[in-house]
Formats: sequence, structure tokens, C-alpha cells
Amino acid sequence: MDDYALVLNAGSSSLKFCVFERPVGEGWRLEARGQIEGIGTSPSLSVKGADGGRLASEKLDSVRNGRDALDALASWLRSKYGGSRVLGVGHRVVHGGARFAKPTIVTPQVLAELHELVPLAPLHQPYNLAAIEAVSERLPDVPQVACFDTSFHRTHSPVVDLIPLPPDIRKAGVQRYGFHGLSYEYISSVLAEAAPEIANGRVIVAHLGSGASLCALKEGKSVDSTMGFTAVDGLCMGTRPGAIDPGAVLFLFQSLGLSAKDVEALLYKKSGLLAISGLSNDMRDLLGRSEPEARLAIDYFVYRAAKEIGALAAVLGGIDGLVFTAGIGENSDEIRRRICESSAWLGIEINAEANATGGPRISTPDSKVSAWVIPTNEELMIARHTGKLLGLI
Ligand code: AMP
Repeated sequence: MDDYALVLNAGSSSLKFCVFERPVGEGWRLEARGQIEGIGTSPSLSVKGADGGRLASEKLDSVRNGRDALDALASWLRSKYGGSRVLGVGHRVVHGGARFAKPTIVTPQVLAELHELVPLAPLHQPYNLAAIEAVSERLPDVPQVACFDTSFHRTHSPVVDLIPLPPDIRKAGVQRYGFHGLSYEYISSVLAEAAPEIANGRVIVAHLGSGASLCALKEGKSVDSTMGFTAVDGLCMGTRPGAIDPGAVLFLFQSLGLSAKDVEALLYKKSGLLAISGLSNDMRDLLGRSEPEARLAIDYFVYRAAKEIGALAAVLGGIDGLVFTAGIGENSDEIRRRICESSAWLGIEINAEANATGGPRISTPDSKVSAWVIPTNEELMIARHTGKLLGLI
């Protein structure tokens, strides 16, 4: 293989990666996609080629932490792509704060500023930054690029990002940031080709996966999003509740005596679909079950999505298109149908046949507002930014 760029998405218990071949002509070509899962419990490596064929699947008993995981990945990369060079490494970094409105080449100064944002995203940022540090120790000459989930939303007006608390608290960084920005940026970048009639209009993109949010796009730019200060806000998610009355959180502390750690675990890991159903955080699993609790969880998910679509439609002054993406949005015709039916008042008329086969256009030809399914590709977005910033394309 030719020289390649590596895209890393490092989390607390997993290291996801993509290998992209040096761009020729059209741009980056995916060579392999994989992950090391179960870091700290029962680690394993699985990798697939661009055609979905298995390239690796093995247990990694010696991997105890993120650094070990990177070493294991490096040795797999050497065994597979021995003679090729790593041109650059692009990282997904959850938080770029108010300052990083664009992907950025990592320098010691940038890294120090990103560390200051750890308190704003304590469950993700430390792992993202640890991966950057581990790569610079092992490959000091390879340039690295940080791509932020928040950057795409820095086009919001000040009123959209305001959290109405006293100035000293806002100065500490308490404002709305928005997340899933790499996914929305990718969708925005392909709209002209995938759905030209809405590309320059008013569009709501529904990124519905384990994490879920909506983004209101006007002429391809983010004007609002359902996620705010953290990725807990907005829609109901697999294990996160979405927007809840802050008074309920106070009650957890004051009347139920929960600690901050308990509340953190509750809000990030034990709420949402999992809490409502008591069965699973996985939408596919819930859709296949008949228990009333599973139905209630799905009903709430759809209800919240439709309600927030209405709110963002108000922000945009009406919409021209609705786009579904991510695990649930791309794969569940039932959830898409139910959300579209609940949003019929906006002028969306779903085409049952097109929806059942996955679109891309899933609304009828006469529908006033069109609806679409467009697969997201956050890793490609990171590869594009990395290539552009490093002058590779
Ligand atoms: P993501 O975080 O984007 O990988 O999405 C994960 C979510 O997508 C999980 O809740 C999965 O159950 C859901 N999902 C994946 N495939 C399907 C499917 N065919 N039907 C319903 N949900 C699905």
C-alpha cells in the first residue's frame, strides 16, 4: 500500500481507527476500519477492509490502558503496512471550546489549551488528548490534527449559545457548544450532490445513534443544535436522558443524597432508553421486543425527536428538508416513519416504499418538505481536514 493517514477516535474503553490511503485524484480512499474494544476489561482487536472483509480479529490480553492499545495498533499497522509511511494522524477531539472553531494542527501550546477544556468534557477529552500525547511520543515527526465535535457549531449567534446564568459563571465557559459537529459537517458537505434541492435551504439533520442530536442548517451552516453545554442535553439517547428539568438534578442531590459521581453515572450511563425500558440501551434490540417498557422507551424517543424538530423548525422559520443519519437514522425505517408522521404538520409526507428500502429520498414527490437518509462519515471528514491542513491534498 501507498503511504497513509490514520484517523483515531480514542474513548475510555475503546480506540477506534481508520486507515486512509494517500489521496490520489478524487481524495482519500478508506483502506481499513477497526477498533480495540474492552480496554481495561477484555480487550480485543477487530479490523475490516473497505469491502467489509475481515482483516483482523484477535484477543489482546496485554492491553491494560489506552497507551497499550496504541502500541497494539502500531504493531498491527507495522505487520500490515510495513513499508508505508504515516503521513499524518487526525484525531476526533470532543471539545474545542469557544476558541477552536476549526480543525487545528497540534502543537504543545494547542495541547495545553485543550487540557484546560477537560472539565467541560471529563468523560471524553482526557482520552482524546492521551492518544495525541502517546502518538507524539512514539512518532514525534508525524504531524497531528485535532478535529473537534464542537467547531461546526461556532457559526451560532450569541443568543443561541447563551446559558442565562450570572456573568462570572458564563466566563468559566458555561455556554452552549453543540456536538456531533463532524457528522453534521460531513452531511452538509455532501448535500449539494445527495440532495441538491435542499442544499442551500433550511434543513434539519437528525443524527440518531447511541448519542442523538439534531442540527438546524441554514445554507449549509449550523444555526442551532439540540445539544448544549454537554452532550447530555437535547434528545433522549441510549443511556443519556436528554434535556431534563435542572430542578430534577437538584432533587437528586438534595433529597436523594446522591453524590456528584453518582449523578454523573446516572446522567451519562444509566438514563435514556436503558432507564425507561429497564431492558436495553440499544434501539434495534428494543424494536424487536414486545414488553410495554420497550414500547414506552421507543415512544419517548420518537416524541422527543418530533418535539425538538418542531422547535428547530421554529428557529429556521420553516424547513425545506429533513435528513436522517447515524445508526438509528440510517437503519430503522420504523423510527424514521414515526418521526416523519409526527412531523407531518410541517409538510413532510413519507413514501413508505422508499423509506423501507432506505431512500436516499424517503418523501413522496409531492411532499412540501423532503425527507432523506444520508449515511454519515465522521472519519472521512477528519481525514479530509487532516489532509487539507497538512497540505497532502
Ligand atoms: P451509532 O451510535 O451511530 O453506531 O448507532 C447505534 C444505534 O443504532 C444503536 O441503538 C443500534 O441499535 C441502532 N441501530 C443500528 N442498526 C439498527 C437497525 N437496523 N434498526 C434499528 N436500530 C439500529
